[in-house]
Amino acid sequence: MKFCSLYSGSSGNSMYIEGAHGKVLVDAGLSGIRITTALQLIGADPTKLKGILVTHDHSDHIKGIGILSRKFNIPLYLNEATWMAVKDQIGKVRDENICLVEKDRPFSIDDLWIRPFSLHHDAADPMGYSISTQTRKISIVTDTGILDEAMYGAIRSSDLVVMESNHDVNMLMAGPYPYFLKKRVAGNQGHLSNDSAADVIIRLAEEGLTKVVLAHLSQENNFPLLALETTKNKLKEKGLDQVVSVEVAARYEPGTPYEL
Ligand SMILES: [Zn+2]
Ligand SMILES: [Zn+2]
Repeated sequence: MKFCSLYSGSSGNSMYIEGAHGKVLVDAGLSGIRITTALQLIGADPTKLKGILVTHDHSDHIKGIGILSRKFNIPLYLNEATWMAVKDQIGKVRDENICLVEKDRPFSIDDLWIRPFSLHHDAADPMGYSISTQTRKISIVTDTGILDEAMYGAIRSSDLVVMESNHDVNMLMAGPYPYFLKKRVAGNQGHLSNDSAADVIIRLAEEGLTKVVLAHLSQENNFPLLALETTKNKLKEKGLDQVVSVEVAARYEPGTPYEL
């Protein structure tokens, strides 16, 4: 299995995942041109994509899904509430390329077995995804205010986890956002903080997780190094810093390509 983050953050999100046959994107929240450019940079062919898995209807996740679907004839996988929320924003998509899926109802695309699960976020019906082959598993968790036990159950025993590490709570509270927005970001329907992300990562690492990509960092309320150090320090306290690799997904360019 291969994984590469193409873009990450409130300026736009997209991730590339490849099995032996199936090749998919999770979200396409930038222009079609920028996503295509990033795919070419990592040596992936956009015409070979078998699907775009859509997490939710916010523009930083859907901006390019319509154009990419039209241009390369790619099916969009999303739930009904998300489809209703995005269909008037993304232009005409061919009927056969609208694939409605439901959380906790796994489906497959070629050799990829995909399980959508519920997130806690102020969108129509947001979903995270865990994507498996026969021997490997990757889970994607961004845009959620909390990580509950059902979500934990969906992502456990992954080989690689992409975990939102959106903000530092102190930076958020002392920062320039108006009060209502601070409350939204920090709330149960908002985004995971560095500390919350680190706590989940510790638990997963204690069960054997060895690869972590921190994602969806806030530009105003976080620094890549701060997110990284928060998780690495907690891993170190548990003596796990040497066995778990952690990196931050870059905002404007593809990150490290992983081969699992
Ligand atoms: Zn987002
Ligand atoms: Zn969102």
